[in-house]
Amino acid sequence: MASFRFRCSECGEHYAEDEVDLLCPVCAGMQEPGCSTRGVLEVELNSLPTAWPAAPMSSPEALVDFLPLDSPARWPPLAVGGTPLLAVERLRQHLNAPDLWIKDDTRNPSGSTKDRASALVVAKAVEYGHDTIAAASTGNAATALAASAAASGVRAVLFVPANAPQAKLVQMLAYGAEVLPVDGTYDQAFDLCIEACERFGWYNRNTALNPFTIEGKKTAALEIAAAMAPQCPDTVLVPVGDGVILAGIAKGFTDLRRAGLVSRVPRLIAVQPEGSAALVNAIIAGDDDIHAVPDATSVADSLVVQAPRNGRLCLRQIRDSSGSAVAVSDEAILTAIGDLARMTGVFAEPAAAAGLAGLRASLENGLVDPTERIVLMVTGTGLKDVPAAGRAVDRPVPIEATLAAVQARVQGDNDR
Ligand SMILES: [Zn+2]
Repeated sequence: MASFRFRCSECGEHYAEDEVDLLCPVCAGMQEPGCSTRGVLEVELNSLPTAWPAAPMSSPEALVDFLPLDSPARWPPLAVGGTPLLAVERLRQHLNAPDLWIKDDTRNPSGSTKDRASALVVAKAVEYGHDTIAAASTGNAATALAASAAASGVRAVLFVPANAPQAKLVQMLAYGAEVLPVDGTYDQAFDLCIEACERFGWYNRNTALNPFTIEGKKTAALEIAAAMAPQCPDTVLVPVGDGVILAGIAKGFTDLRRAGLVSRVPRLIAVQPEGSAALVNAIIAGDDDIHAVPDATSVADSLVVQAPRNGRLCLRQIRDSSGSAVAVSDEAILTAIGDLARMTGVFAEPAAAAGLAGLRASLENGLVDPTERIVLMVTGTGLKDVPAAGRAVDRPVPIEATLAAVQARVQGDNDR
């Protein structure tokens, strides 16, 4: 068991585990409505392993030494993480990037990277004796919480925008969660969830607000590093909505560097849709503050936020890693869905394909050199939002059930 304390990502103050309730009380007092969350806490483990574990990195037996977890038995009985790092030869050739890798996190139990955060949050809720966990989400985090809560027998109450993709809504209902579709934006659902948790005494899994969401997502970095050791990626591209996956990747490599298991933290490049690019705007402008984008919109629903909740910490981590941020159009995201699927066999939702669109833009503008060792985080399956993916393909007109009709249809293909 790894004992730990919290450290405020803003003011640096340390707190014991039982001393605070999710946020640094000093910095949280400066919170303004609709802005990035103030006083986000990071977990600081008192000790870290100095050798790679014998057990697979994704196993609860290995993770208990790298996470603030008092027993591997708390981990939900689900195959969270342990996703493949793919050597994508055809995409490498297409982009002329010979050392490109894909972390295929579509293979998590509920189909997204959010399972990593939810598993740890559920484990901590069980440890703390909570019987209800609530979350606001654009869809994936709520679905992931529903899955881990179902596996562990904990009640989940979920606040989601009423216009979330149907597949995500159906999935969380199937897992048995109590779903409260909110007639409003994600940001409104987020604030409503906070109020409800205070009123009803529920444990709050809201992303960034709950420090274990960042800590859980760092398991993706642990797996990437373990798979590549003793090498280390030069650059990792991460799609950013609230910025917690990016924070988790940064935290994972930072912990491993502290432990002496990797030599450096890779350069982190955040990818956002042009219509929801508050973090990119701040990086380009050199701002320390994130300015909300009031009418944020994109085909990549998982990335649509007015102000990234974890924006402040993300800015620091990107700059500490000498990283950057790029914005990509919805058209580029839809193109990336098709290219990724055709050239790697990985079917990604729009948010997850945004990483490839960001890589293309970064190669074109010289931000990334094609000879670098590059990892793309692919964070959610395309089955999450089939109508959006449908915009990336041409649907064929049905044919008669005759061989002649087949011959007429494929003739052009065979002639090529
Ligand atoms: Zn603070």
